[in-house]
Amino acid sequence: MSYLKGFLVTFRQIFQRRVTTPYPKIKREKPERLHGRHVLGRYEDGMEKCIGCELCSGVCPADCIYVRGADNPTDNPISPGERYGFVYEINYLRCIHCDLCVEACPTGAITESKMFEFSFTNRNDAIYTREELLVDEETGKPKQLPWEDWRDGEDLLTSGWLRATSPSGDATYEGQIAWSGDLGYGVRKSEIGQSVTESREQEEDQ
Ligand code: SF4
Ligand code: SF4
Repeated sequence: MSYLKGFLVTFRQIFQRRVTTPYPKIKREKPERLHGRHVLGRYEDGMEKCIGCELCSGVCPADCIYVRGADNPTDNPISPGERYGFVYEINYLRCIHCDLCVEACPTGAITESKMFEFSFTNRNDAIYTREELLVDEETGKPKQLPWEDWRDGEDLLTSGWLRATSPSGDATYEGQIAWSGDLGYGVRKSEIGQSVTESREQEEDQ
């Protein structure tokens, strides 16, 4: 009799909704703030956001970012700052995707995409260069490298969601977009809780 009960349990499962997906053929939707492969952004006019300040490199607990800044050419500047990221490398054999580099960046230049399916067959591929990390100059979208498995929508939210919190500490800018838009994504709305008004409304609701 206990056998029959066991079969009944198994039989019932046939009609249950499946909780697994045939990954990697089908990827499940990822959380909005999942930390995947980095991108270096550009402003809407195509200029690079990175000013070569090395803050991301300094804060990285895994010591996997290498930045060298250089003075912007006066006749054809690469970034709006005095300097730009002349050399920029991230070693993905060491990165733990903690996102501290993103938080440290004063210009919202470095952000993380939701794409984490990438594997390498040699050490050089694992060290991403500035050219590989920079978004495309025409579309503003991340470059898709041969060893990466990008799917629809995984290039979303690769621009600086923290931008609304980066008005250099000036409270009068809270809730306002203080930077120009992202190439390919335009100007984003600040997230809930990132503006004074919304924070106060939330506090009042509690
Ligand atoms: S996500 Fe963390 S470990 Fe990776 S490069 Fe940024 S600071 Fe370093
Ligand atoms: S990515 Fe940001 S923090 Fe890193 S060097 Fe460039 S501007 Fe500075």
